Amino acid sequence: MYLPIISPSAAPCRLILYIFLLWLVSVAAYAVPAQDVGGKDVRLADFPVGYFIDSSESLTYETAQNKTFEATNSTATLGTGASVTWHRITLDNAGPEAKALFLHLPAAFQVRALEIYEERSQSLVGQARVDLNNASNNPLMYRGTVVYPFSVPAGETTVLFVRSHLYSHQWFAAEIYDDQNSRKALVGGHLDIALLVGMMVALVFYNGLLYFATSKKENILYSLYLISGVVWIALSYGLIAEAFNIYGDAVFILNLSVFTMPIFLVLFMMSIFETREFYITEHRVLSGLLVLLVGGFCYGLFDIEAALIPASSLAALMMLVTFSVSLSMWRKGNPLAKFFLVGHSFFVVFNGFAVLFYKGVIEPNYLNSHGVGIGIVLEAITLAFIISYRIKVLEDIRAQQGELKRQAATDPLTQLYNRRYFMTEGESLIEKARALGEPVSVVTLDIDYFKKVNDTYGHHAGDLVLKGVAVNLQKFSRDRDLIARFGGEEFMVLLPGADHAEAKGCAERIRQGVEKHSVQVGDGVSIRVTVSLGVTQINSAKESLEAAANRADKALYDAKTGGRNRVCCAA
Ligand code: GH3
Ligand code: MG
Ligand code: MG
Repeated sequence: MYLPIISPSAAPCRLILYIFLLWLVSVAAYAVPAQDVGGKDVRLADFPVGYFIDSSESLTYETAQNKTFEATNSTATLGTGASVTWHRITLDNAGPEAKALFLHLPAAFQVRALEIYEERSQSLVGQARVDLNNASNNPLMYRGTVVYPFSVPAGETTVLFVRSHLYSHQWFAAEIYDDQNSRKALVGGHLDIALLVGMMVALVFYNGLLYFATSKKENILYSLYLISGVVWIALSYGLIAEAFNIYGDAVFILNLSVFTMPIFLVLFMMSIFETREFYITEHRVLSGLLVLLVGGFCYGLFDIEAALIPASSLAALMMLVTFSVSLSMWRKGNPLAKFFLVGHSFFVVFNGFAVLFYKGVIEPNYLNSHGVGIGIVLEAITLAFIISYRIKVLEDIRAQQGELKRQAATDPLTQLYNRRYFMTEGESLIEKARALGEPVSVVTLDIDYFKKVNDTYGHHAGDLVLKGVAVNLQKFSRDRDLIARFGGEEFMVLLPGADHAEAKGCAERIRQGVEKHSVQVGDGVSIRVTVSLGVTQINSAKESLEAAANRADKALYDAKTGGRNRVCCAA
């Protein structure tokens, strides 16, 4: 397609161009140096290999070996266009002994099928085929890794051709080991990824527990997001293949987590930011994104391979939308948005690298090939701050509610319960006493000549006397008694488990206690007051607290008319 721009008269130019193109092709073809395996230890995990994409999907070993193989890395992404690829690995043995080696294909778990051809001196000396959908009894499978044994005689060259039949978005990885290193590689792989997964699983459990503590939907959504992330990470690094010994279609369908992860993240955002209530525009944008993601997920249920083709574009769109939405909420002053922005920045940056890596735009390295995993974990950890912030807010609200409840139930002057609380709590205590067959009594108390205290020493002194009486009530009643300031200078005590006589004894103790107690009401001025009390046992089977309190009041009236500073009992 370059040729028409060169005029036909410029034949020498055309020749130079042809030579140049030929040179380019040959450079590409021969830029893949052979690896020398003559040394003592063989441990090749990162070395150049040749590859080409077979778009006809029909080349055989015989036809493929003559194709032009371009240079790439032994760990390389294949983009979305590749369905069948061929890789060529050339191994020289400059050493004095023959080498027995093992080709590891650790990314094998996620392809459909692999074919390996071993060639020496232009002739085929070995070959193998692994159909990943039917590989459970294949002797070349070690968990998710295909392990192919081969040899390189001293002074000779072995060329390995690997034909991969892929789903989509896969990468190719080849490693060459001697026996000892092969064993090491098969047991010791992916410790770093296992650590990431472990951290996320811990977060899942933690959030599950939080859900039981708070009943907040966001904890469940966050857990589901984490679970999707864990599945995706474990899947992409072969941990699922390793742990459960599954590969091919069975493991490929788990790529659905590529959709569930953002679905739960968006739902989590809607929940913690309460977008439906407070951020209508953002809510609509997120809902639109959700529709796309759910659509992708449903499509993936039927044809995951096809659904994954636009997945990285969808991921890019999702990152753009969620990032803009959180930015907008941050500008509107939402206190949680900054955590989300920081966490999401990790996610966006690392996933951005990963997307470029999957699309084959950039060379693979540790960070971009692990981009999604690292992004998810860093985001997950930052989002945990949101959860803890929310818990703190919730606890503050609970504490406030507790304080309000306490205030609504108590009298501010004496800190005793008020009439309203006494009546409701009293009824339930009577109910309990009835169920247990226990007696229950009530004592009512009124300060004698209290008006005189106010008139003589002032209202403040009166208040101090009221506090003093409250202190004595608490001191001389029992722990389980319910004490309340009923209003003015009248008090009421409910005594669960106390019959008439016991209640009378308690009332007498209170009366004596108040009588002996003097209250400091000013400089050097202290006063004493007396109280009159009415006592009655409640007929818990028949009567209400109110009826019993009225009867106790009548007894109190008797105490007043009988001369005050005394205890009277109702008949
Ligand atoms: P009695 O022996 O017959 O009970 O005589 P008393 O003077 O105590 O009469 P009464 O029970 O009618 O008096 C109630 C007085 O209590 C009236 C009111 O001024 C006073 N009082 C009510 N609530 C408060 C309060 O919160 N602080 C103060 N200082 N006085 C109060
Ligand atoms: Mg009174
Ligand atoms: Mg009084």
